[in-house]
Amino acid sequence: MSDLVPQSPESLPRPRLHKRTLTGFTSTEIKVIDSIIPSESRELWKKFGSKEFNTVEEFQASFISHVEKTLARSMYNCDNLAAYQAASSAVRDKLILHWNKTQQLHTAKDIKRVYYFSFEFLMGRAMDNALINLDIKDLTKEGVNKLGFNLEDLLEIEPDAGLGNGGLGRLAACFVDSLSTQNYAGWGYGVRYQYGIFAQKIIDGYQVETPDYWLRFSNPWELPRLEIQIPVDYYGFTQTVKDLKTGKSKKQWFGSERVLAVAYDFPVPGYDTANVNNLRMWSAQPTTEFDFNKFNQGDYQNSVAEQQKAESITAVLYPNDNFYQGKELRLKQQYFWVAASLHDIIRRFIKTKRNWSEFPDQVAIQLNDTHPTVAVVELQRVLVDIEGLDWDTAWQIVIKTFSYTNHTVMQEALEKWPLDLFGNLLPRHLEIIYDINLKFLQQVEKKFPGDNDLLSKVSIIEESSPKNIRMANLAIIGSHRVNGVAELHSELLRTTLFKDFVKVFGVEKFTNVTNGITPRRWLREANPELSELIASKLGGFGYLTNLTELKKLESFINDSSFKKRWAEIKVNNKKRLSLLVKNLTGIDINPDSLFDIQVKRIHEYKRQQLNIFGVIHRYLQLKKCKNNEERVKLYTPKVSIIGGKAAPGYYMAKTIIKLINSVGDVINKDPDIGDLLKVVFVPDYNVSKAQIITSASDVSEHISTAGTEGSGTSNMKFVLNGGLIIGTVDGANVEITREIGEENIFLFGNLAENVEQLRHNHKFNSLENNIVPSSLQEVFDAIESNTFGDSSEYKSLIDSIKIHGDYYLVTDDFDSYLQTQKLVDDEFRNHRDEWIVKCISSVANMGFFSSDRCIQEYAENIWNVEPVQE
Ligand SMILES: *Cc1c(COP(=O)(O)O)cnc(C)c1O
Repeated sequence: MSDLVPQSPESLPRPRLHKRTLTGFTSTEIKVIDSIIPSESRELWKKFGSKEFNTVEEFQASFISHVEKTLARSMYNCDNLAAYQAASSAVRDKLILHWNKTQQLHTAKDIKRVYYFSFEFLMGRAMDNALINLDIKDLTKEGVNKLGFNLEDLLEIEPDAGLGNGGLGRLAACFVDSLSTQNYAGWGYGVRYQYGIFAQKIIDGYQVETPDYWLRFSNPWELPRLEIQIPVDYYGFTQTVKDLKTGKSKKQWFGSERVLAVAYDFPVPGYDTANVNNLRMWSAQPTTEFDFNKFNQGDYQNSVAEQQKAESITAVLYPNDNFYQGKELRLKQQYFWVAASLHDIIRRFIKTKRNWSEFPDQVAIQLNDTHPTVAVVELQRVLVDIEGLDWDTAWQIVIKTFSYTNHTVMQEALEKWPLDLFGNLLPRHLEIIYDINLKFLQQVEKKFPGDNDLLSKVSIIEESSPKNIRMANLAIIGSHRVNGVAELHSELLRTTLFKDFVKVFGVEKFTNVTNGITPRRWLREANPELSELIASKLGGFGYLTNLTELKKLESFINDSSFKKRWAEIKVNNKKRLSLLVKNLTGIDINPDSLFDIQVKRIHEYKRQQLNIFGVIHRYLQLKKCKNNEERVKLYTPKVSIIGGKAAPGYYMAKTIIKLINSVGDVINKDPDIGDLLKVVFVPDYNVSKAQIITSASDVSEHISTAGTEGSGTSNMKFVLNGGLIIGTVDGANVEITREIGEENIFLFGNLAENVEQLRHNHKFNSLENNIVPSSLQEVFDAIESNTFGDSSEYKSLIDSIKIHGDYYLVTDDFDSYLQTQKLVDDEFRNHRDEWIVKCISSVANMGFFSSDRCIQEYAENIWNVEPVQE
């Protein structure tokens, strides 16, 4: 294989040129249909049109121009912050030029666009990603270096855009990267929260939340479009009015409160292409209309104060992951974002002067979970109440436009709005929901006469007291496709949560798109050394846009110098993480130890409690050893690293964090233990920390109760970076196993198909108190005898398992977990060469988990769109 001869990274070919070149568009000019500039003036526009930088010197000129003119500073007072801002602005300028051309091309091509509606976009940092995707990292590094700065220091200054909770928001971020990279016309629509996910501090072992005011130093990566102001109404009443044109009577909504949605655009660069899509985020502003009533009553202060309340709508992200809380402000946020986004899309469509029936040929909208589901109702309202279409014509357009991604089967995560709350805020939308429901139930009744049980199950309205609107039911009824996020999860949707809808609509409506991750951020950016090693073997970085090329790595599993380098890189990444851990916690960890990592939101279903109980068990066994000799003989030195945020109101999750920290405090300073076991809680887990952490695992834990995890994506990040998994047969672990082979993954625990029976058993056995295996009882005894501080703090955690039914089946899986951990220890310690072979073969078979593949599947099977050719 001549193309597989090793090459040094410097001699690598530059990235393969994609359909569109990096320096711009190959066509000489993109024709714009309407321009207000008279043709005789256009030559001047072209003559003075902005040029993007392409050399170190041009970058430096742009940098200095931004220091001096944008920031009003000079070489005498340019600190790292200013340098970061200037460098970002220079790069942003380049992106904007690509962005403009991309939008002109898409408009000129008049193609169908995809709109990804997500309440969360967990973007992380933008600068490093832009440098990599534009292939200007070396240039920029040299440019800032000669001007007296270190690029790595500048990159560290950027705060994360933490506009999401966890996996769902990060998925949206990976998807917009893949949409751009593959030359799709695909926009994200989201909310510009002023406060993203809170920053987590650990004080005396407890989680303390502090606000994340990420816009503190302004944000060079966003473009305020202050002229795009879309009015959004709330409350008020509905009335039947006579249509002046048709003479027919129709319903109309008169809102009583109005705010403005202002657009902020975040350019989303693709890798190895000039295609730059847009992530449009809405920010709430008071209307400029003034409450003259109040003013005339001499109440100037109050009339201004009332207006200020508008801004609170987009002030803060709700910090719950996989948990629904029916707060009015959240529904206000949802309608605000959805109404503004739809208005924007409709305005764009109307400019094309097409017939409404062609709307679904121009627009595909993906609902990321049920958060944007009110969009279904809003589009129906606009089409019927405002545009005057008849109900059925409008409804067909709606269904063809929308599709819905479900992320969870857990009841506590399903959105159900109390009917009164909903109807008060959005009275006309409630009426429309009633009409949608009535027509739908009539169809069901026709197909299944007399099946009242079926009717009540598929109804949008839950006839509980108080009554609720089931948003998942509305999303299914208003979409043409519904997908789960991994095969097991999609199968559970078809056979449990949505089985009644399968009966009504047929099984074809319910499909699967297994989640993925972008290899640009999660390999190239997170693991520079490994990505370069791979490039040196595969003949360049083409694999980053065609991840199944990794398969060729299989031919190197017997190449000892390759394996040696592979192992070195892992140690380097572990050293990098050790440094981060030292800085954050003061704890010293040894990079030669086995690094066992579990980072993700803290949740009982993800079972960090199982992990820490396992750690305690190991500690107790170590303590039983006669002396150090025996300990060293029996146990592999190991560092247990756990990180993640708990929702501020989730008491049990916070208890688990406290237990992890207390256990760490005891173990880390026990002189008997030394390097044999260390326990680290990494505070404030976020995307930029994940980029350091995911490349540094030997093994990572994905140990949710079978059937509870939708997909998981950190499992993919860890394996792509050469770590093995200890996991349950859940979510995408199933497909990871299929792709990499079951000899390369440590699976344990009960299967999803047995969970119901096991839970049932607990309900009826738990009082007899014979369900806790002795191994786990030993752990409980240690906790209860105050080994890790005041045991009363952990009473509710232990009770939830011992006497409240052990819903997450910790007792059922504990021994299986311990046994499998033993296997991990043994493999890592005694079969290191096989271990490395496992890692390499795993990476070689991870191609399937690129988010590029996800986007292709959505494009073909759900959106009916193709990449835009020039
Ligand atoms: C990938 C990622 C997640 C998702 O992790 P799971 O283990 O799949 O739940 C959550 N948070 C951050 C910051 C991530 O990068």
